[in-house]
Amino acid sequence: MQLDPLTLMVPAVLATAFAGILLIGAWWFNHRVPALIWWSAANGFNAAGLAVLTAGFAWHAPGLIALGSGINIMSPAMVWGGARSFNDLPARIPVIAAGPAIWLAVALLPFGQDNQKWAAVAAFAAWFSYVSAAVWILWRTRAEKLAARWPLMGFMAAHSIIYLGAGYDAFAGQFPLNQPPPLDSWFGIVHFETILYAMGTALFMVLVCKERMEAGYIEAARTDPLTGAANRTAFFETAHRLLDRCRQEQSPLSLVMFDLDRFKSINDNHGHQVGDRILRDFADTVRLSLRPNDLFGRYGGEEFAVVLPGASIETACAIAERIRQVFADTNEFVDGQPVRATVSAGVAVASPEMTLEAVIEAADMAMYAAKDSGRNRVERASTASATAGANVIRIA
Ligand code: GH3
Ligand code: MG
Ligand code: MG
Repeated sequence: MQLDPLTLMVPAVLATAFAGILLIGAWWFNHRVPALIWWSAANGFNAAGLAVLTAGFAWHAPGLIALGSGINIMSPAMVWGGARSFNDLPARIPVIAAGPAIWLAVALLPFGQDNQKWAAVAAFAAWFSYVSAAVWILWRTRAEKLAARWPLMGFMAAHSIIYLGAGYDAFAGQFPLNQPPPLDSWFGIVHFETILYAMGTALFMVLVCKERMEAGYIEAARTDPLTGAANRTAFFETAHRLLDRCRQEQSPLSLVMFDLDRFKSINDNHGHQVGDRILRDFADTVRLSLRPNDLFGRYGGEEFAVVLPGASIETACAIAERIRQVFADTNEFVDGQPVRATVSAGVAVASPEMTLEAVIEAADMAMYAAKDSGRNRVERASTASATAGANVIRIA
């Protein structure tokens, strides 16, 4: 079978156009991801540019070849815009316009015989720069665990490296300018790679957006919407896991129960919305005092729990005391008047034989002891209280 490079451009155009349709279709079902429109437009420009180039090569029309390259060069700029949009970064229109504008300037400037060569160098340089910059953008947010990110970056990185090589060839004067890349040149692989790039990136772009959406739903199902703390389900699940891990590692685990003081009267006097703001202030205060591996959950209405893996009871008491103090100094203002809210806390450490529920109970009892002693204070459960559910040692 004889493969003809010009004919091979047709499936590349079709595959790229199909990738664009796939992406716009995915956007149709999920309007919240504008990156899909950018990436669809990237495929649209690529398909249209390749189609015009194919016609230009077929009819030996330099004008069409130049037009095809001009349309085509919008594609990598859109890929870059899409990657920025995916990461919630602003579009930066001047940067998006810069590549095509430089290409146009180079194509129009009077370089004599060399115009076409330098325009090809500019086009390949633009492809390489935009696509590798898009890979860099996706790499920077790799902490957000999305499995489809890696194959997506792989397809894009391979594509940008191939275009870097083509740019070098064009620079060295070894690139055919008025015909499709011949199959016996290394750049001949572009006929197949273009199809893989279009289908591979479209597939993994759709998957990466779907993955992120699902992760968002899971996160929302595990988070208390008012305070951003873990909800009860997520709290218990994670707390059990942390307790098991601390047991295995034979490291301590402490738990603090917080309950806002006389919160009902705050609601009654100032309204539910002020109450809600105070709950958010408290959550912000707690988060500022915790390390990344600590767990913060909303246990009930105005009751919160914090699990501190690796923390001794002394450390946990110090953290609870800091939270108490900072919160007591944080005021919401109503009609210019400060609304003072305070919190009481109980701290317990898990002894080897204790279940999570027993640690919570011990901390809860210590918290009630803090209430009994006048509120706005931290109490510590004695080790004995952990199982017996009694003794409380006063610390603040
Ligand atoms: P104590 O110091 O003994 O804890 O007194 P308290 O008034 O805080 O205790 P109580 O349990 O009687 O009241 C808790 C209040 O918390 C009652 C409820 O309306 C309020 N509350 C629970 N969830 C929310 C919420 O999401 N927003 C607001 N604004 N209030 C809430
Ligand atoms: Mg309560
Ligand atoms: Mg309360």
